[in-house]
Amino acid sequence: MLMGKETGGFKGGFDLLDTYPLKFCNIVEEISSDGTPEIYHFPVPTQKVEHVIVSLCPTEPWALPNWVILKHKTAAFLTVLKEIKNSYFPDARFYIAINEKETRTVADAKNFACNEDWMSVFPIYPKYPHDDPIVLTKVILNLDADFGQDMESLGVLILDAQTVSALYESLILKKNVNSRFIVLSGTGLKENEILNVQLGTTIEKVLRNKVKELVRHRVFINGPLRGQEITDLSQKTDWSINHLVVLEEKDRKVILPMFKSDELLLTTNVLGELRRCVSCNFCDDICPVYLEPALYYHSYTRGEKHKARLYNLEKCIECGLCSFICPSKLELLEIIKECKALDNQK
Ligand code: SF4
Ligand code: SF4
Repeated sequence: MLMGKETGGFKGGFDLLDTYPLKFCNIVEEISSDGTPEIYHFPVPTQKVEHVIVSLCPTEPWALPNWVILKHKTAAFLTVLKEIKNSYFPDARFYIAINEKETRTVADAKNFACNEDWMSVFPIYPKYPHDDPIVLTKVILNLDADFGQDMESLGVLILDAQTVSALYESLILKKNVNSRFIVLSGTGLKENEILNVQLGTTIEKVLRNKVKELVRHRVFINGPLRGQEITDLSQKTDWSINHLVVLEEKDRKVILPMFKSDELLLTTNVLGELRRCVSCNFCDDICPVYLEPALYYHSYTRGEKHKARLYNLEKCIECGLCSFICPSKLELLEIIKECKALDNQK
């Protein structure tokens, strides 16, 4: 069954894929752990799964591209998915969200779905953050979820392509899965690469000989927008790491970095002079859940963090677009997280 796409009450978003097109070498290098590699165990949900959303719609250029797992054989991938459904989720309905620009994948999935009443295909425009679990759940199932909520409590399981593949290997074929693909990209690297990394390998080893020499850089797990910056590279890789972005540190002010598609500047220029909010409303305009991030910033700088909670702060899906778009490079998402963490009673 082919479904029409709805915006589901979300707006804005940003076309990161077109703004920062990344090229990868097709040769996948393997990186082995120094110790015994860890084994991936898929946590089979304890609660009844009614809906399984398979996300084949990465909206960030530094995320793992579909072709790495699908290998342009969509029907084979969906056949694997059918085996998983029959063995583990016989009563669930499956929804396949696919980047609508990947027309061949969409066409192959549609052809497959013609004879399969257990699945629906959702072509989705790949604007960031439209692959966010909360957005997908609302757009596809019309279910409301809060940031951080356990989707399984709603009967929803969301899988990406690589997890489907690992699930098949471990649960159906009974093989040990001890590695995963990790994408390396960013201005701080010699080149963008896709690696097959044994689980438990340190990030220091993953990045060894790949970072540009004599360049100050910052490392982000799962991207600079909604990921996490790390300084301790002895941290070990696990299944949650999809990509590592290494950005060259810039200490010069860059106005409107989102229009400099030749350089991925984003939040790297935090040094330099103190900046002010220039009341441009860019952050309000781009927020996909209709929040006004500048309000949080003003509450914060007035020393009234608790007041930020009055403005629907809990609806923030922590996509990081407000920080990304802010011409003053204010770390809005960091402020939001700090305000969210406050005790409700304050
Ligand atoms: S306020 Fe939250 S949801 Fe809105 S753009 Fe910022 S991080 Fe994203
Ligand atoms: S984008 Fe930045 S400068 Fe513009 S209104 Fe928002 S916080 Fe202020």
